[in-house]
Amino acid sequence: MKILVVEDEQKVAKFLQQGLEEEHYAVKVASDGEQGTVSATTETFDLIILDIFLPKRDGISLLKEIRSKQITTPVLMLTAKSSVDNKIEGLDSGADDYLTKPFAFAELLARVRALLRRGGVEKSTMLKVADLQLDTVAHKAKRGEKLIELTGKEYALLEYFMRNVNRVLTRTIISEHIWNYNFDTGTNVVDVYINHLRSKVDDGFEKKLLQTVRGVGYVLKDE
Ligand code: CA
Repeated sequence: MKILVVEDEQKVAKFLQQGLEEEHYAVKVASDGEQGTVSATTETFDLIILDIFLPKRDGISLLKEIRSKQITTPVLMLTAKSSVDNKIEGLDSGADDYLTKPFAFAELLARVRALLRRGGVEKSTMLKVADLQLDTVAHKAKRGEKLIELTGKEYALLEYFMRNVNRVLTRTIISEHIWNYNFDTGTNVVDVYINHLRSKVDDGFEKKLLQTVRGVGYVLKDE
């Protein structure tokens, strides 16, 4: 899951980036409204965290532009404490939720999870594909009765596959969502991670869930 943070206060941006990365989200930070608009309109994100008061272009105007371009990515707006008008204007402009500064990081995380659930079909914090289960709050995976230990990146990969069950994902799409940099398609990093993940998920089970689609990418299958 990849998140765009549009925030000009460096301290807040850094705090958000670090905290979200610890939760295995890939994070990109834009530090003004223009940069934010470029990122939001040219790259794919699963969620945007948007500050309102930004240099060069304010958050409301950015939000209006992306919604006018039919970009439906969930937006969590950050507002100053007293600005009820901002909240109303933000929600009316297409924000999905807002959080008042200063906020507790735990609350931000809960709102992020709620918005990501809203975007997908799966409404539960527990994702299930066949006998594979993933607890997206505790970050624990289980196949049948067997607990699966995952590294941060493996967790991020598995969550992404489980939210896109039966959908073939190309290496490019996978790397865009899981790694926050322009991916060198000459490397086999994605394949290496997927091989590790696959052996953890499928080894010892007759039914193989994580399958290679030759020449295209990978798919997690529930049937
Ligand atoms: Ca600001």
